[in-house]
Formats: sequence, structure tokens, C-alpha cells
Amino acid sequence: MSAREPSLPAIVADVGAGRRSAVETARASLAAIRDADGDPEAGLNAFLSAGGDAVEAAAAAVDEAIRRGEEPGPLAGVPVAVKDNLCTVEFPTTCGSRILEGYRSPFDATVVRRLRAAGAVVVGKTNLDEFAMGSSTENSAFGPTRNPHDRTRVPGGSSGGSAAAVAAGLVPVALGSDTGGSVRQPAAFCGVVGIKPTYGRVSRYGLVAFASSLDQVGTFGRTVYDATLLLQTIAGPDPLDSTAAPIPVPDWLAELDRGVEGLVVGVPREFFPPELDPRIARLCHDAAERLAAAGAEVREVSLPHTGYAIPTYYVIATAEASSNLARYDGVRYGFRASGAESALAVYEATRSLGFGAEVKRRIMLGTYALSAGYYDQYYGTAQRVRGLIARDFREVFASGVDVLLTPTTPSVAFRLGEKVEDPYQMYLADIFTVTANLAGVPALSLPIGTVDGLPVGGQLIADRWQEGVLARAAAALERSLAG
Ligand code: GLN
Repeated sequence: MSAREPSLPAIVADVGAGRRSAVETARASLAAIRDADGDPEAGLNAFLSAGGDAVEAAAAAVDEAIRRGEEPGPLAGVPVAVKDNLCTVEFPTTCGSRILEGYRSPFDATVVRRLRAAGAVVVGKTNLDEFAMGSSTENSAFGPTRNPHDRTRVPGGSSGGSAAAVAAGLVPVALGSDTGGSVRQPAAFCGVVGIKPTYGRVSRYGLVAFASSLDQVGTFGRTVYDATLLLQTIAGPDPLDSTAAPIPVPDWLAELDRGVEGLVVGVPREFFPPELDPRIARLCHDAAERLAAAGAEVREVSLPHTGYAIPTYYVIATAEASSNLARYDGVRYGFRASGAESALAVYEATRSLGFGAEVKRRIMLGTYALSAGYYDQYYGTAQRVRGLIARDFREVFASGVDVLLTPTTPSVAFRLGEKVEDPYQMYLADIFTVTANLAGVPALSLPIGTVDGLPVGGQLIADRWQEGVLARAAAALERSLAG
């Protein structure tokens, strides 16, 4: 299977025509997962749970519907992996945390329901940094995921399990979540396509909240087509989530072949700082030249407040996390510490034992930023700077730019353990991805080459609700790189 061939049309055609059953397709994916994840020392550890009777039954139901002559759904028989912070009834939902040990959701996330309605088969739940807080999947309570391109390296995070699963060919597509880069950064490190849609494009009902003003569900695929088709399936308003905007979802697949003739591509100079690996900068400039050769106009532009992105993000994200994570008290969900004698002691012991170090660090940072006397100094200031960052994007798109092109990450995948002792270095892995979340705009990462044999991602960013432009530019670039 070539890396540039979309995987989904072939699966859907085969299953729809009865040439290969959904059951066989799911079993093949589960066998690949067992092979890849099996070895506790060197396995990928991409999945936290997979397979079982419910998967078999779901696949059999797809086959049965097709035998009855029903119209096969747009994802008929497609095995999909789902990040383990999205609720599913048949698998545990752990968020990579001990504190949710034993928790089972009584409902499916809306995105999971939509996958099933389209005929997809959810084969398992993927590893992540605890509560999606991290950039390497090393903050999982269940051990790190390894990068399939080099098992001594991280897959990125926090959706590292989903990115690794798609990169290793265990599933053709997967869901992740992106609060500050958690779909795009692991997509870049693993050499796959990752899309973070516009804030409000996809329902978050059943996505365990990290930072509610930033969180979005996103998609992974080996090609732009696959990741776009998956997004097309899950997007759109939802009566169960008032933040899923009542805005119609256009046909993005129809954009893929349009080419970039007449599009204006902006290359923001702030995304090429001196610390950036020059080989990554070179690949981005090469990508810009390819878009120009395909008919786009390329301009240098400026997003002047980019330098404030990391501190702004880490004040807002931790403040919201400290509030969202207050619900894990040992009473409502999962794990409860034993032996505590008062309600307060239960909370304290459960949270001390149940949360990992990074989650505790964020709860403390966020609680501090929100505390009386500091609220305006930290949270208030961060909100004002966030407004400036959002205005940078508005102005650049108002000036006629259709899409921005940047590196997704400042380096290629780093080694396991390399940054765990230094949270600030880890935070810098998101320097190019957090602004899209702060501004609420859609962004996509796609492979644009390799450095030392490791994948490099290029990021495309469009204006709010303009996922179609992203799909169009990404598909054109993908074709040029393949040609
Ligand atoms: N790596 C960033 C963080 O640690 C982003 C995480 C995410 O997008 N969920 O917060």
C-alpha cells in the first residue's frame, strides 16, 4: 500500500460489494494491533484497549446490513481507533490516568456515534498523555507509546497512540483531540496527516474536557483524503453540545481536486525563528515553492504576537484544566483511595494517588493563576493577549491571504526520556501549534519530507470555517510531493 493512496475508498468499496467482510477487516486490524503492541519491552503500546465481542458484533452488523441490501455507509467496514479521552460504551475510558481506573462511560461520544452510523467499526482506544496534557505520550499512566519510525523516539502527544496506530498501518484512520497541538504535533512526528478543525466545528459531547475554550476533536489519516473524509463524517451541529456551531458542513472532499490556482499562501516570518532546525525551514520553503509552482501566490506575512503564544496558552489551558479536573474526587468516577476518614481526606488521598505529576503541576499552576489577587494579573492578561493573537490571524486573512504555511514542530521526534525532566522544553514542542487553538482557527499537518530519516510536518492554517481551503491546499501539496 503506497503512503499516498487513500485507504478508505478501497475498504468501503470491498466491504460494500461483499468482496471482503467488515468482520475480516476488523480482525486483520486487531491482529496487526496485537503484533505491534504485544511486546511489553519494544511494542508500540499504541492501544490501551482493543477488540472483544462488541467489536466483532459491530462488524457483523455492518456485514448483515449490506447483505440485507441496505446502502453501505460512507465508512462501511472501516476500522477506526479512538483516543481514550472519548467516551465509548464497549471500552473503558481512562484518559491515560489511574484516577479513571475501572470507569466505563454509560454513553458514546457524539463523534463515536457518528462513526458507527457511517458504518465504521471502532476497534480500540488509543494511548495518550494523561488527560491529554503533554507532547510525547510519556505522561500516560500506562507507559509511553513508541514512534513506529524509530522505537527509541516519542510519537508526539498527546494523541500519540492514534498517530502511531495510523503510521504503523494498524488502522487506516483515527480520532484524536487537539487543545494546543495534540493532533498536529504527533501527526508530524509520525509522518501522517492530522486535522484540527475550527473551534465549534465538531461536537465535544463525550470528549473528556481538558481546556474547554481550546479543545477540539480532530482526525488522523495516511492521506489528506482519508483524514478529510473522517472529519466530514463527524463534523456538524449537535443538540447535545451547544458549542458545536449551527453552521452547515460543506462538501470538503469536492475541494480536494480543485488545485491552488488563485489561492494566496502566507508564510509568517515569526514561525521561522533562529532556533528552528534549518533543514525543517528548508522543507517548508520547498513546500511553498511547490504551491507557487501549482499556481498559488506566495507572500511573506507577519503574525506579530506569536512570541507570546506559549505563556498565554499555558496560563489559559492550566486555568481551565484546574477547574475541569475538580470533578475527579473519588466519589463520582473510577478510582477511590481507601482508608480516608473524612470527605476531604478522600478527595486529597484520591487526587494525590490518582493523578500523575504533570496533571498535578497543571492543576497547581491553573489554581494559582485563578486565585484571588492574581486572577487579573495572570488569567486576565492571558485573555487579553489571546485577543491580540486572534486579531493577528483576522488581519492576515482580511488582507487577502487564504492559507498560512508553517512548520508544525521546531524539531523532529525527540528521544524517549529526553525532555521528561524539563517541562518547559516539552512545552516548547507546541510553539507552532498553540496559536491556532487560541484563535479558534482550523489547521492541518501533513508530511513534507524527512530529516535524518524522520518525518517532518508542514502546517496549513486557514480562517474560521475554511476547512475546505485547508483540504484544497493540502491535497495539492500532497500531489506535488508524490509526483
Ligand atoms: N501539548 C500541549 C499540552 O501539553 C497540547 C495538548 C493538547 O493539545 N491536548 O497542553
